[in-house]
Amino acid sequence: MFVDVHTHDINIDNHEVIKIVNLGFTVNTFWDGDFPVLFSAGIHPWDANQNFDLNDFREILRKENVVAVGESGLDKSHKETFGKQHEIFLKMIDFSEKIHKPLIIHAVRTYSDIISIKKETKAKMPWIIHGFQGSPESAQQLIRHDLFLSFGEFLYRNENQAVKVLRSIPVEKLFLETDVSGRNIVDVYEKAAALMNCDIDFLEEKIFDNFKQIFGYGKLEEQDTYFGW
Ligand SMILES: [Zn+2]
Repeated sequence: MFVDVHTHDINIDNHEVIKIVNLGFTVNTFWDGDFPVLFSAGIHPWDANQNFDLNDFREILRKENVVAVGESGLDKSHKETFGKQHEIFLKMIDFSEKIHKPLIIHAVRTYSDIISIKKETKAKMPWIIHGFQGSPESAQQLIRHDLFLSFGEFLYRNENQAVKVLRSIPVEKLFLETDVSGRNIVDVYEKAAALMNCDIDFLEEKIFDNFKQIFGYGKLEEQDTYFGW
């Protein structure tokens, strides 16, 4: 079973893939019932200035097929709303802790801020940095603070750096994603396996283990309408 831990693509083309589809708070439609997809819901830092109702949001997060909070986080390319982004991010962390769902993080030039906030909040739920594209040193620091890293376009855009990063982190901390790229997640697995010089089967198994560990496989398995397991 392949896992696409962060995507905006709702289409289901492959039943060997579990995907976590991101719902922004601006999405009014929520797919209820037995839609065979999992969701994450969060307030994106780019939407920091928009109006939203946190109570509605809390209700969405309670739904069973919403398995993660996010993407939320901090983005320094949008400096003008940084204060507000921070405020919202703390709220999302609080939701994640209270509702016991992992947090999917959008971080641009803010890896050290994320680590400081993790220390300050003492948050216990798993945190996944999606779309990681930093240095091996930042990867090490994030891993030391127990974060997970998810890779997508970085594997294609900056192969040399991606090889160094991938080979410097434990596979127990690894996820892969398609985000908005429109790629097939299986291709992303192939690319990562080539860069890591390992078998795609190995990655498939290890990342599925990571998924089961942090998204509560036992709980999901009972909802077999979602997957046909
Ligand atoms: Zn995204």
